[in-house]
Amino acid sequence: MSKAFASQADLADKKITFEQLSAHCWAYTAEGDPNSGVIIGDKFIMVSDATATPSMAQDLIARIRTVSDKPIKYVLLTHYHAVRVLGASAYAAEGATEIIASQGTHELIIERGKEDMQSEMERFPRLFRNAESVPGLTWPTMVIGGGNPAKGEVPGKLTIDLGGVVVQIWHPGPGHTRGDTIAWVEEEKVLFSGDLVEYQAGVYTGDAHLEEWPATLEALRALRAEAIVPGRGEAMKGAAEVNKALDYTKRWVETLFACAKEAAAANMDLKAAMAHTRKQMDPIFGNVFIYEHCLPFDVSRAYDEAKGIKNPRIWTAQRDQEMWASLQA
Ligand SMILES: [Zn+2]
Repeated sequence: MSKAFASQADLADKKITFEQLSAHCWAYTAEGDPNSGVIIGDKFIMVSDATATPSMAQDLIARIRTVSDKPIKYVLLTHYHAVRVLGASAYAAEGATEIIASQGTHELIIERGKEDMQSEMERFPRLFRNAESVPGLTWPTMVIGGGNPAKGEVPGKLTIDLGGVVVQIWHPGPGHTRGDTIAWVEEEKVLFSGDLVEYQAGVYTGDAHLEEWPATLEALRALRAEAIVPGRGEAMKGAAEVNKALDYTKRWVETLFACAKEAAAANMDLKAAMAHTRKQMDPIFGNVFIYEHCLPFDVSRAYDEAKGIKNPRIWTAQRDQEMWASLQA
């Protein structure tokens, strides 16, 4: 039986939860859809991941306005994926003056942002239902990891005081993409991980660096967070729950990449690599949200990396369809 492409058959709305995790930190989650985080200070608010469209961002803004009337000055892009960044323009009317991303993310937006936008709009018709509200690509105004202050670049770690709460932002290492950024509220032990960490949802690795991802997860574990807003899945509260999310993501990444390496070593073609990977992945992860959407993209990238392709190949709407026809139809 052929499967509808990516998430094209997923048209039922999700139940959104806006939940307070600590004195200043909130989670905006939706049953496995892309999450956002919110950090509310006495002076300013920061949103971590903007949502897919300005229209969708209006719902997040409305929830924030039930608890604070401060300006939403900062929008953090944890990485370049369209479902997380293209809603950013909505925050300008709420006081946003800074859009923050890592240097790696900035480079990826330049290199493949346009292709990614087109590809993701076709993968996720429900999330991009009001795509006409997207004015174009989202460009950062503050870039972490560069060395040229004249271009808005900030070396190393960025620390932002929102008034009564301090947020640290940095790139902890390659993983879901090569530019992933996290936000960490140390005093409250709350971590906003973006797609570096997921829980009970598909872990998309189509643009990932699988070999390096587990070490990046261990760097996050060393923070000893007591709550986490993952990229997808519910917010996790308590150190044991945070570790569950880290373990879940690590198991996905390691199982997938081990299968790809076996397939490459045995000279299997991509279709055979997919079948080989399914034998391991389906019994463990087969029932989680967005599994069937993610798996063929994941196997494609894992197989490439196992074959020595360091820089993930760019997904275009056309490459998406060709891959899907060969692996999922
Ligand atoms: Zn992503």
